[in-house]
Amino acid sequence: MAEAEFDVLILGAGSGGYSCALRAAQLGLSVGLVEKGNLGGTCLHIGCIPTKALLHAAEIADSAREASQFGVQATFEGVDMAGVNAYKDGVVDRLFKGLTGLIKGRGITVIEGEGTLTGPRTVTVDGTAYSGKHVVLASGSYSRTLPGLEIDGERVITSEQALRLDRVPASAIVLGGGVIGCEFASVWKSFGADVTIVEALPRLVAVEDEASSKALERAFRKRKIAFRTGTPFQSVKVTDTGVAVTVEGGDVIEAELLLVAVGRGPTTDGLGYAEQGVAMERGFVLADERCRTNVDGVFAVGDIVPGLQLAHRGFQQGIFVAEEIAGLEPTPIDEAGIPRVTYSHPEIASCGLNEDRARELYGDEITTVTFDLGGNGKSQILKTQGFVKLVARKDGPVVGIHLVGDRVGELIGEAQLIYNWEGHADDVAPLVHAHPTQNEALGEAHLALAGKSLHAHA
Ligand code: FAD
Repeated sequence: MAEAEFDVLILGAGSGGYSCALRAAQLGLSVGLVEKGNLGGTCLHIGCIPTKALLHAAEIADSAREASQFGVQATFEGVDMAGVNAYKDGVVDRLFKGLTGLIKGRGITVIEGEGTLTGPRTVTVDGTAYSGKHVVLASGSYSRTLPGLEIDGERVITSEQALRLDRVPASAIVLGGGVIGCEFASVWKSFGADVTIVEALPRLVAVEDEASSKALERAFRKRKIAFRTGTPFQSVKVTDTGVAVTVEGGDVIEAELLLVAVGRGPTTDGLGYAEQGVAMERGFVLADERCRTNVDGVFAVGDIVPGLQLAHRGFQQGIFVAEEIAGLEPTPIDEAGIPRVTYSHPEIASCGLNEDRARELYGDEITTVTFDLGGNGKSQILKTQGFVKLVARKDGPVVGIHLVGDRVGELIGEAQLIYNWEGHADDVAPLVHAHPTQNEALGEAHLALAGKSLHAHA
């Protein structure tokens, strides 16, 4: 028996699902939001927010340790994980309360429990069927592991358990040198652990421009974060004191624990999607640029859709779908225009194409410019190293912007406007950037691209 019919029925209240709910309600649509865990999903509870709180605490630990470089007398006496966790959980809690209030205030019906798609427009929760004129699948993702690699939650853990650790491990092996792996490696090193990253691909954060990966590797080397790239994992043995990881070639690396950060798989198994005829590929839900699946009236957003598994992508797709359902004909989202940030120390941020991809698409039409943060006053004040790299079409727009350095994640807003508005060097170069800011480095890079380099050797 159908309990209620909504204009929009959403399965999953993570970044994709809840943004869709809020926007749909704002547009006057009735909304049912099914959630088996906590409103806010991965990002709020076990993803972006708690990891960035840890990274901020790590930055403070580094500042305390390095205070004398700035003439400040301070001693770093260690990390009290109970205190760090209280701070982290406090941030999550405040945001969770705010989100819960927003959802309630918009008159959204929250249906608590595990939902299954039991008809093309029906979601069943604990035996009760709810229907929607439109259904939005937003069930998110989970931490993957490798065949034969069992997560025991103690010695072999995922990011979820890593976020709940009540101690700083003396040593850790991080399996996977992608964004999540590098962020945890960075935190633990700042907190005082010995860290080794094991990565099968030839470089860290391999989705980024090669220059960014190399800069991160240089910085990690300097920080004494060990990494073994081009080194596939073979096996792990849990011992009385920790783990012994064997990598291809036979080397054994030992540590107190192993963090498995080898990517995230779509949460779609057993949810009835395929049974209702939704086209899937390797567990992901296939959706077109309007976030529509092949089943009429069924949409999909967020990490279950192939592409960048980022909160702001799911968030924007959720808004897009609400507007699509309301008939507002929103403009499709350009995947390449979605900003990406790795919040390690130093940070990597990017938008648009990396150089290799741009050359594949445009060949010799591509030109690049790199402005070193050594020529940027604010970066010198912060004592951070890195660069702004522009990838542009000759006499055409900038097609990729790549940044490395502490706090460069905050610059990505301007970078994404330049990319998404197809800015040319001559458009951006004359913009006045506040002084002294790291944003000036973006201005300088565009001056260089326009052939008017001021603070760099042309
Ligand atoms: P989710 O947030 O996973 O939400 C899905 C929701 O659906 C969950 O609440 C789940 O409980 C619910 N659900 C699933 N199945 C059912 C069911 N059958 N019935 C009812 N409810 C169900 N992204 C960034 O942009 N920036 C970052 O800094 C960042 N850091 C990250 C750090 C870590 C450690 C991790 C793990 C992820 C990070 N991400 C980051 C990725 C980001 O969290 C995800 O891209 C984002 O949460 C995806 O949103 P979503 O709505 O698709 O799914």
